[in-house]
Amino acid sequence: MITTNMDAPVPTRIEVARPFPPLTYLAPPGLQPGQRVRVKVRNAATLGVVLGPDPDPPKVKLRPVDSVLDPFPLLPPRLWELLEFAARYYGCGLAHLLPLCLPPAVEADWETLLPSGQRLGEAREAGRWDLLAEAGRAWHEGALALPGLFHRRGLRGAGLTEVRLTGQPHPARVTPAQARVIFALEGAGGALLEGPLLEASQAGASVLATLERHGLVARVRRMDLLSQKRELDEPDKRVELNGEQRQAVAAVTPGAFGVHLLYGVTGSGKTEVYLELAERTLAAGRRVLWLVPEIGLTTRLLSRLEARFPGRVAVGHAGLNATEKQADVLRLLQDDAPLFVGVRNAVLAPLRDLGLIVVDEEQEGSYKSEEHPRIHARDLAVKRGQLEGCPVVLGSATPSLESWQAANAGRYRLLRLRDRPAGVDLPTVKVVDLRESFKEERRKVVFSRQLLEGLGETLARREQSMLLLNRRGFENFWMCRACGRTFECPHCSVTLTYHKGAFRLRCHLCGYESVPPEVCIHCGAEHIRGVGEGTEQIEDQLRTLFPAARILRLDRDTTTRRGSLEAGLLAAELGEVDILVGTQMLAKGHNFPNLTLVGILNADLGLKIPDFRAAERTFQLLTQVAGRAGRAELKGRVLLQTYSPDHPAIIHAVAQDFEAFAREELPYREALGYPPFSAMSLYRSEGDTPGEALEPLRQLRLALETVPGLRILGPLEAPIARVKDRYRMQMILKAATRGPLGEAMRRAPLVPGGAVTLDRDPLSFGV
Ligand code: ADP
Ligand code: ZN
Repeated sequence: MITTNMDAPVPTRIEVARPFPPLTYLAPPGLQPGQRVRVKVRNAATLGVVLGPDPDPPKVKLRPVDSVLDPFPLLPPRLWELLEFAARYYGCGLAHLLPLCLPPAVEADWETLLPSGQRLGEAREAGRWDLLAEAGRAWHEGALALPGLFHRRGLRGAGLTEVRLTGQPHPARVTPAQARVIFALEGAGGALLEGPLLEASQAGASVLATLERHGLVARVRRMDLLSQKRELDEPDKRVELNGEQRQAVAAVTPGAFGVHLLYGVTGSGKTEVYLELAERTLAAGRRVLWLVPEIGLTTRLLSRLEARFPGRVAVGHAGLNATEKQADVLRLLQDDAPLFVGVRNAVLAPLRDLGLIVVDEEQEGSYKSEEHPRIHARDLAVKRGQLEGCPVVLGSATPSLESWQAANAGRYRLLRLRDRPAGVDLPTVKVVDLRESFKEERRKVVFSRQLLEGLGETLARREQSMLLLNRRGFENFWMCRACGRTFECPHCSVTLTYHKGAFRLRCHLCGYESVPPEVCIHCGAEHIRGVGEGTEQIEDQLRTLFPAARILRLDRDTTTRRGSLEAGLLAAELGEVDILVGTQMLAKGHNFPNLTLVGILNADLGLKIPDFRAAERTFQLLTQVAGRAGRAELKGRVLLQTYSPDHPAIIHAVAQDFEAFAREELPYREALGYPPFSAMSLYRSEGDTPGEALEPLRQLRLALETVPGLRILGPLEAPIARVKDRYRMQMILKAATRGPLGEAMRRAPLVPGGAVTLDRDPLSFGV
């Protein structure tokens, strides 16, 4: 059937990235679900997503769409199914999910020729949606490659790809544009980044492509500058997999859905297993999605990947600028990079023909979004694997109890790696009972005698130490000794934290800050006392205790500038730091060959948080930090200071025994009906007064009371009852399975942008 631009526009349902239900516009016929359009909402231009024709349009004068951005849906059909699932599951609009898949500005010059010989751009301008739709179908089915589709001047690979001169052109065959490129390259000594080159030569990317085809230039993908400079980089170091690793690889059936939990301590060789599986998948012509919790801490992994799969890796880098991000997503759309590494949102990356999904450190909380839409990338990865019919591998040294229980129940397949290769031992962990230290010294102890001795010895041996305290600032809060009151944020119901370097009292929630007062703001007395040391104070005290040591503090306060965390970690890795002090950001994925002492200053901090996952989180954090010690030839040790040496999370962390921890924790969860033995939804609302915040939740409760199998807790004040002058209330829904929670969403659908928001499978309860 041929539709032409002569056809009249049709009413079309379009979801807009605004807090509204879908709206109906007049659009060219033949638009497909997933195509992006620009429309006006109350006279403001906004992005919209086509949902489909509207069979029953409202009886008013409909507005036309302003423009159609994509000639056909840019998302592979399987991914579109995943989005529809996610929208239903998390209670959000497709238009809210779309920006997570595609950078907002993916608009291109359509240069490619259609099979009919017409230029894509011309067809689009002429409104030949039929031709475009046809091309789109062919592209989706993989029958048509559109290498030039997204070539937009200066965009493709900008900043990431270097162009090098590799041959001598034949003078007679060079077009003026090609000549400009060659001159620009020669002028720059033979190589330039692609973006600046195209700029300088006023040439389009198709010119480069032609030159490349003729063997005159080569495009070389550049990795993160940081990883380029490193001396530590290994070339592709192929290892011979040991028996367990080979078994793990063999257990993963290519081309079939199945979830595998790869469980092994840090350094047991999980990454080698992923690499092997990825290689196998790429060799079969399929693509790999590889999720990591935090890309900033993954430079080593990226160089390992680039070494193994040169030029085939694209990176969804949270820290990249928009153009760079766009460049890598464009490579995916062009099928130019079959392996995509990225953080949370990468689970929605527009890769097609997936053959493998890897989720490394699957227990990490960063996979769950803290903002609307509150997706969980690990859970969506499993769903995506199911839709794509490909294996999913979740890896961890300390799996989430959700995944562990799924493996126990046989829904996931457990793959174990028991040993660290080649005689690398686990560090020894020793508990320092702070109650004993208190008795010994008759005052509160920050550094126990044992820890001070350990630090001294380690310094003397010219090895490295790392000290962890999960609290930043100098003093956690200030209190008046006379009236006993604390200094709180005027806008939030939390205390202010003292930052000595900045000489400010700061609110860690809203950023409010004030110059510290000299007398109590409540009673005027002069006896103000700081309570609860933070990393800034630890650094201060260390400088007094060990004046000759090179000390580096890494926490949110010292790493605000982009790249500063990476730079600090690199300095430590290169041996330029003797004592590293910081918050939990030190715990993750780093390899310090010379680190032999890890001190955990107060292992109990996380246990006090009123959350049923407090023990699990503490266990994970402690085990992870402990794993930092002694990865190379040097034997490591860990000193763990605690006031509660008998707590199961501490006992099992000391033994670094995840399975024992899970054995003790799971029955407790089951008895109390917590996940993984139940499912939860958290509804929140805010208001200018407590009553205003409460009302919509009260209404919601009335609507949901008759849903079978649902337990409703609340509405109640949120643990932090006020933030930025807004009062917060919450209500928790609990059920033995997910069914009643879905039923609740159908029974009382949330108005997009309404007073109530939903967090399904919440990881944080608003503390
Ligand atoms: P994990 O991902 O579990 O932390 P890695 O895969 O990074 O572990 O392995 C840790 C180190 O051990 C790496 O340097 C890796 O190259 C090496 N390694 C892993 N498996 C083997 C093996 N079978 N033989 C030799 N070295 C190995
Ligand atoms: Zn505040």
